[in-house]
Amino acid sequence: MPGPETTTETSWKDRFDTSIMRTMGMPLRYLVRGEGAYVWDGDGNQYLDFLAGIAVNSLGHAHPVFVEAVTRQASTLAHVSNYFSTPPQLELAERLTRLTGAGQGGRAYFCNSGAEANEAAFKLARLNSHGPRTRIIALTNAFHGRTMGALALTGKPAMREPFEPVPGGVEHIDTTIEALEAALDDTVAALFLEPIKGEAGVLELPEGFLQRARELTEQHGALLILDEIQTGVGRTGAWFSYMNAGVVPDAVTIAKGMAGGFPIGSLVTFGWASDLFSRGQHGSTFGGNPLAAATANAVLGEIESAGLVQNAARRGAEIRDIIARIESPFVSEIRGQGLLIGVGLSEPIAGRIADAALENGLIINAPNDSSLRIAPPLIIGDDEVREFGVRLGRAFESLS
Ligand SMILES: *Cc1c(COP(=O)(O)O)cnc(C)c1O
Repeated sequence: MPGPETTTETSWKDRFDTSIMRTMGMPLRYLVRGEGAYVWDGDGNQYLDFLAGIAVNSLGHAHPVFVEAVTRQASTLAHVSNYFSTPPQLELAERLTRLTGAGQGGRAYFCNSGAEANEAAFKLARLNSHGPRTRIIALTNAFHGRTMGALALTGKPAMREPFEPVPGGVEHIDTTIEALEAALDDTVAALFLEPIKGEAGVLELPEGFLQRARELTEQHGALLILDEIQTGVGRTGAWFSYMNAGVVPDAVTIAKGMAGGFPIGSLVTFGWASDLFSRGQHGSTFGGNPLAAATANAVLGEIESAGLVQNAARRGAEIRDIIARIESPFVSEIRGQGLLIGVGLSEPIAGRIADAALENGLIINAPNDSSLRIAPPLIIGDDEVREFGVRLGRAFESLS
């Protein structure tokens, strides 16, 4: 019988190939267990996980706080429908309005994924009360998710084109202050941005871009909506990346790292943006259920009490140093903030380096041919950082 214990290469690959929808390529490994920053495959091989499920496993794998929260809430009250509120739901809404800086005038909407949070934000933009406006400005090369509205916002034509027509009104501009100034006027409902373009290879916005975006949207009554699905929840060495830029948005979307691996998403609004949705205009059956909300509360509480936002800043700097000290001729640039790190390569060999890393027991990824992405759990310490250096060094050596 095929099962997690009998995992020859062919058996799981055959089963995957015959039973899973063909939306993704063949997975790299068949994973059965995790602990801290490490995971193990079905053949007993151990990997240092410096991707964390793409910036999701904030506390690493099987963290006692996560396990306890899921277990306790599952045995207390898991789901109730939106006809009822629960203690974890209200606690999470209040926690998020505090952590985002939205404060008293802030509100939280809950859903189950990043794409769904952006769908909610897209609908929010349609409701901009400063007159009838349908134009939404987004960035070329940005990624906002795979559902139809999120896809319309995504600035990668190859992802979008097979599924057109997508919802209209979205225009993609180059990521320059000049293009921003040319695009913004009183007909714009919202400007939609990733503060760091994660899927594009961890690309930062140009210096001053976010500040100028804030000025122009404010001047023209457009919403500034920040997609912090990948950058949020402490990953960049601040609770949210806009805090590093000293900018306050009108809305922020949050998902990935928010509940450490439990599916959840949120749209948090600030000030006037909190008054745009009215009763019956949006909803989700699972959104904000007590099981997901309690897990998010526990994960966010642990990030706060264990000082993991500061740890992200400190460990991020250490990892950058390590990469620089490898002195590989292939490394042309080190990008990102905190523990969302991109390595720009001088040749299109990112896939080969990520494969070599995996062979050496290190999980990182290649969002495109010339970029590596490193996004470890926020809990990493001296041992994990040192081990990362050893394994990445071996991966680079094996290619030179
Ligand atoms: C991952 C991601 C999304 C989509 O989130 P899903 O949970 O996969 O739907 C949207 N925006 C950004 C910036 C992301 O990194």
